[in-house]
Amino acid sequence: MGILIKEVDVLTQNRNRDVLRGVDILIQGKRIEKIGRNIKGKTEFKIDGRGKLAVPGLINTHTHVAMTLFRGYADDMRFWEAWPERIWPREKKVKAEDVRAGSLLGCLEMIRSGTTCFMDNYFFMDEVAEAVKGVGMRANLAYGMIDIGDAEKRKKELKIGEEFVKDFDGKADGRIGCSFAPHAPYSCSEELLLKAKELAEKHDALLQIHVAETRKEVFDSLKKSGKRPVEYLESIGFLSKRVIAAHCVWITKREVGMLGSKGAKVSYNPVSNMKLASGGVAPIPQMLESDVCVTFGTDGAVSNNSLNMLETIKVGTLLQKSHLWDSRVLNAQQALDFATINGAKALGIEAGSVEEGKLADMFLMELNSPNLLPANSLVSNLVYSSNPSNISDVIVDGKLVMKDRKILTIDEEKVFEKIRKVSEKFRE
Ligand SMILES: [Zn+2]
Repeated sequence: MGILIKEVDVLTQNRNRDVLRGVDILIQGKRIEKIGRNIKGKTEFKIDGRGKLAVPGLINTHTHVAMTLFRGYADDMRFWEAWPERIWPREKKVKAEDVRAGSLLGCLEMIRSGTTCFMDNYFFMDEVAEAVKGVGMRANLAYGMIDIGDAEKRKKELKIGEEFVKDFDGKADGRIGCSFAPHAPYSCSEELLLKAKELAEKHDALLQIHVAETRKEVFDSLKKSGKRPVEYLESIGFLSKRVIAAHCVWITKREVGMLGSKGAKVSYNPVSNMKLASGGVAPIPQMLESDVCVTFGTDGAVSNNSLNMLETIKVGTLLQKSHLWDSRVLNAQQALDFATINGAKALGIEAGSVEEGKLADMFLMELNSPNLLPANSLVSNLVYSSNPSNISDVIVDGKLVMKDRKILTIDEEKVFEKIRKVSEKFRE
């Protein structure tokens, strides 16, 4: 067992952000056992790391992975028209096996673009969990709950949400964590939000929620409660360090302060926000000033339309610079931090950096590529110049999931075949 990577360059993402040149990495079991020179040891796999860069696996903190099924169905339309017209009628036809297929497809796309861990909420989550298990990724999953004020529905949703946590938390050799996901402050009653919080405490789990994604949401919230979305969540006592709030594009400095003081984390989804013309831009500099842990998410493939975190990292930095007329805002290192160590911190996993003792979640990138030479700055090259085709190998939980661009855990062709088949019924 084990993997030995020889003479590789490393973006460690450790405390000093050290960049190592030509070192060996020994992986035993789930963890990185040793990083150094001339490491010897008997391992199942030996990888020649010369000309390659080891990078901590990227962590995508907001997606709906099975929505790959509907990729391209809601483009260039108004958000509030696209979903009722194009997505909800199709979601009514979704069966468990479709979610499995869509999730496997999404996982393959994520692996090939360097993502080793993701946070997800949708329905038929058992199928998402099985996909994660089979493909070998790490994930934090939740059943997405909505009650729209209906007490009967609330009871049912909470039951499904809790059952899922009971069934899958810690499964797949610890690669699967579970959380609770009340959809949003506007689609969930106060009772549901608070009950979800209570359950999260009971099971020591995280809370995923969409917050302040559109201007309409803010207007409606003000009309209903006299408070903006984050103010409302604060007033009912929902905010805590367990919360991972996706989007947060229409929030004030005061609301940023509330997130910071409660230790809530933010999932910044720049591509989704731009594609859906959400208009608002997450106030990243203010979030950093208020010590908010900022992470990156892609959102689902209907609103992105890819799950490519490398693209999200680049677009996320460009959006801040463009929006604020300041090219110094959100530098490459900070953006890489969001996608690695901050993601790990938000999800409570011992990953996000390539260091001795950490979980072995990483990918290797071919440096001898036209878009990555010369290697004047490895961080800059990764953030601004790289793309998924540069990625050759992916390791999750100490196991090779992709080697020399070949997926080892599942038969990729079979997934493609299944997708072609299940996607037919959604076409009309
Ligand atoms: Zn979402």
